[in-house]
Amino acid sequence: MKPLLSLKDVSIVYPGERADVRAVRNVSLDVAPGETLGLVGESGSGKSSLAAAMLGLLPAGARIEGSVHFEDREMTALAEPELRRLRGSAIATIAQDPFTALNPVLRIGSQMVAFQHWHKELTRAERWKRATEMLEKVGLSDPETRMRQFPHQLSGGSRQRVAIGAALLAEPRLLIADEPTTALDATTEAQILAIMREAKAELTGSTIFITHDISVVSRVCDRVAVLYAGELLETGPVAEVLSNPQHPYTKALLECDPARISEPTRTLPTIPGTVPRPNEPRSGCTFSPRCPAAFGPCTTERPALAACGESWKSACHLVTV
Ligand code: SF4
Ligand code: MG
Repeated sequence: MKPLLSLKDVSIVYPGERADVRAVRNVSLDVAPGETLGLVGESGSGKSSLAAAMLGLLPAGARIEGSVHFEDREMTALAEPELRRLRGSAIATIAQDPFTALNPVLRIGSQMVAFQHWHKELTRAERWKRATEMLEKVGLSDPETRMRQFPHQLSGGSRQRVAIGAALLAEPRLLIADEPTTALDATTEAQILAIMREAKAELTGSTIFITHDISVVSRVCDRVAVLYAGELLETGPVAEVLSNPQHPYTKALLECDPARISEPTRTLPTIPGTVPRPNEPRSGCTFSPRCPAAFGPCTTERPALAACGESWKSACHLVTV
């Protein structure tokens, strides 16, 4: 099946004071129609830069190398008006802070109606009805009342439900959710993840779910891509990668995941060492200074992504020895 979105050898470079900063390095990734891909990484992994590149929203001055192909378009070659048109219809986003999606001075209802502006065939009353039904689908009680409220009258969780509903009303072919549950408490997060999971049935398109929390991936995603310091280290089907990670970094992320630690511990394990700064010189495997499994070639040869299963790849010398 032809991928909906295809990233080939993508690098993202920001101009720096002394030298350019390479935030993403040679990432190649496909997203198949209908699938949910989890993009996992700590802060500084380049996941938000990649999302911005997919949306054509990189800040002025940032340079993108490689190719971002969406359906039949090369995103890196599109002019701003066309990108804006795409972002209003074919590609929708859910942000970490739902306030960014909602206008504080407009009632929820008029915003939900406005989000359907390209449905020229629908009357305002029909759009209002669709919006009300959508609010019900995303789990808001008393949607008729919500439609008449302002964003500040809703809790953070309810606002995020509205933002998800708004994104779904657009019937996007690609939905990009950037840490949509990070600002929420655990109970609300679980509810929002359940809604995202149900939304998959509603949505005919694909979803990219960006998170720093690998446990979230197992709850909503079909495939996962693990980023580290701007590089793609492992990608494959969620069930396989999470139960039997091939890359030591993926393993370490899972070992630090509070959801997987059965015994209550006073301090959570963390990965020793720090993520290299984007401009720090690299030799060999970028994870080698922190890797407990490092051996012979690790500090001198950069491992390429190698197949370790069906549509499963890991950039680690252990896979090829
Ligand atoms: Fe560790 Fe070597 Fe694999 Fe890098 S290539 S993750 S240093 S074992
Ligand atoms: Mg981010």
